[in-house]
Amino acid sequence: MTIAGIEPTPSAARPHLLGLDYSVLQQCMHCGLCLPTCPTYAATKMERHSPRGRIALARAIADGRLELTPAFGQEMYFCLGCLACMSACPAGVNYAEIFEHARAATELDQVIDTPFRRAVRWFTIKWLFMDLRRLLFLGRLLRLYQRLGLQSLLRGSGILKLLPARLRGLEAMTPTIAPKFSAELIAPVTPARGAKRYRVAMLTGCAQDLIFSEINRDTVEVLARNGCEVITPPRQSCCGSLHGHNGEWALAQQLARRHIDQFPPDQYDAIISNAGGCGSHLKHYSQLLADDPAYRERARQWDAKLKDIHEWLMAIGLQPVPAHTAPAQVVTYHESCHLCHGQKITRQPRELLRAIPNLQLVELPESNWCCGSAGIYNITQPEMANQLLERKMNHIRSTGATIVANGNSGCLLQLINGARQHGLSVRVAHPVTLLAEAYRRTGTLPEEKPQTGT
Ligand code: SF4
Ligand code: SF4
Repeated sequence: MTIAGIEPTPSAARPHLLGLDYSVLQQCMHCGLCLPTCPTYAATKMERHSPRGRIALARAIADGRLELTPAFGQEMYFCLGCLACMSACPAGVNYAEIFEHARAATELDQVIDTPFRRAVRWFTIKWLFMDLRRLLFLGRLLRLYQRLGLQSLLRGSGILKLLPARLRGLEAMTPTIAPKFSAELIAPVTPARGAKRYRVAMLTGCAQDLIFSEINRDTVEVLARNGCEVITPPRQSCCGSLHGHNGEWALAQQLARRHIDQFPPDQYDAIISNAGGCGSHLKHYSQLLADDPAYRERARQWDAKLKDIHEWLMAIGLQPVPAHTAPAQVVTYHESCHLCHGQKITRQPRELLRAIPNLQLVELPESNWCCGSAGIYNITQPEMANQLLERKMNHIRSTGATIVANGNSGCLLQLINGARQHGLSVRVAHPVTLLAEAYRRTGTLPEEKPQTGT
């Protein structure tokens, strides 16, 4: 197959693509059934921007018929990694594996490297997110800047108009830092309310902790309300999905080992994640550590214990929310790509929302179509991300919902920004927060204490 714009270069370059199992590439039978589900192909109608095109390029490189060029590297970073193609594929092609190996090969060969890009990647991926104390320290500074009104002052002064459009866009996306982080809201051990049925560990995440720590608190309280003793160590690490999805395979392995050491899987009935993107990565530690004899077996146990919060609550039998008189509200549900395509969890969040007495769930058109967040895609590819966001906002508007529910921190942030940009008056909330509020309204969970923070 000839890919428009990229000429095959005969080369003995590499017998394989960084250890990627060649049979994964061979599975694609070029049927094209994935094409209509691919947002980048839908936008451009170019074969190279489709899953089939990207797989063909990767195979050509693995065969040594094509050099790993800057065009290939850029192509793999134009891909959202949304995995919609995997849900559509009748042959079961593991595109996630191809995607991660292709990005890792791109980084190893440094084909799209520039000094600026290298510096940004070093500061963020290799330094900030390798130790969350650094991230939370930066978060505290940013919170102070926001609390003192300096951000509003700067925005109101008009001085930001002097910045290039790209930087202005980035500044507008700055999230509001949570008044308190998870360690200040959640005790290391939260006893089950009533009879203890399970012992679980709670992963508080990185961005989730920084921006949405109250979702972590709600998750722990809902778990306790459902008979779980919850262990939440105050000092945790990033799960490594940022690293795995951005070509830093060795760092992702390092973080996976750190997690397995901190949360030995044989000590818990489940290890809980409440962020779809993180959960999808966390469930594949055995793949990441397949060549490590010291961790291989424990990584398999870890994968089996790792549960998304919606999946776990529905599996153990959700404690019903007593009827109450709160006003009826219309809610719609936007699916995180890595929750629905990566983890195949589609039914449970809807069941959870339907279990809340005053909510009426209205289906969102194209609910499983990417919102453009895709990890850091909205920062690296703002044009395409904004197209997707606009499409999502139009669909949300068409439902008439006053609440949009979603189970992933990156999407929550993207939807909050989208609602503001598009003048849409909707509340954006995690399903577990809506559930916690319903329990609290009926007195079956304690009232939330106001957060003041430092
Ligand atoms: S991951 Fe998403 S953007 Fe990438 S090829 Fe698959 S469907 Fe297209
Ligand atoms: S649907 Fe699967 S087999 Fe068909 S072209 Fe897409 S990736 Fe290949």
